[in-house]
Amino acid sequence: MNPAPNVPAVPFQPVVRASQGMHATHTMHVVPAVPGKDWVATDLDNTLFSRYWAGPGAVPGTWRENPGPDSQPGHEPSSWVRPETHRLLLLLAQAATLVPVTARDADAFARVYVPGLNLAGPAVLANGAVVLNPAGVPDPDWEKHMRTLLLPWRKKLEDRCTSLLHRSGQAARPRLVYGPAEFAAYLVAKAPDGWWQGTVGRDLFSEICAGDLEGCQITVLGNEFQLLPPGLGKGPAARFVQERYFAGQAPLLCLGDMPPDLEFMRLGGLWATPAGSNLAVLWQL
Ligand SMILES: [Mg+2]
Repeated sequence: MNPAPNVPAVPFQPVVRASQGMHATHTMHVVPAVPGKDWVATDLDNTLFSRYWAGPGAVPGTWRENPGPDSQPGHEPSSWVRPETHRLLLLLAQAATLVPVTARDADAFARVYVPGLNLAGPAVLANGAVVLNPAGVPDPDWEKHMRTLLLPWRKKLEDRCTSLLHRSGQAARPRLVYGPAEFAAYLVAKAPDGWWQGTVGRDLFSEICAGDLEGCQITVLGNEFQLLPPGLGKGPAARFVQERYFAGQAPLLCLGDMPPDLEFMRLGGLWATPAGSNLAVLWQL
């Protein structure tokens, strides 16, 4: 997608590379995270930004590498924040710490940069497999907990991933999303729109779900299959963040767009979802 022509180019600034413990270096004023004060828990994709939201006044939200002239690498926006959402986030960031709660792994999270906002940490990544502290570094206690929780599921996730790869006729694109280093946290498989709802997709879904997956959370969200081991989720990780970094205080506001987001959105007393989101559509039914 081409950037909206009316949106000024903003130099790419990585939020954080969790695996390297790198800190963000922003060129513009950013509100720092202040542990202990109020917080707002927010999903990222299709809640704060979307690749479909380019338009007048839209602000870049994520970036991808784009080889420039003379082989000089550069970055270009790959998704956009609606202008009114961006103004709201800037206001919220003055009063509260914005805490991303996302399915993105560390690499995908490093491609997030919303001008003027510090989203580096605390943060929940990989559907709860990783919790970053206010400095953007993985919380060691949560990492230890996750290693114990994920270890028994490692081979099962790898086997399901291989099976999906061979049995879907390359229609589905399965991959393992990693949490703590070298620990597969969960399995996702994207397919063309409607494929999982068709005969082949439904049969394969049943086949993959059969057997020793008791307690797993298995869903198809839009065109994406997800298999999460028991105990993994945005909810448990967000509760850990609440206790560890906000003295047990519930978030002021929770933002999300999909039914599984309700798991952490219920932490607070007030929810919000973008107009036209999956949740918004469900609520209208
Ligand atoms: Mg989302």
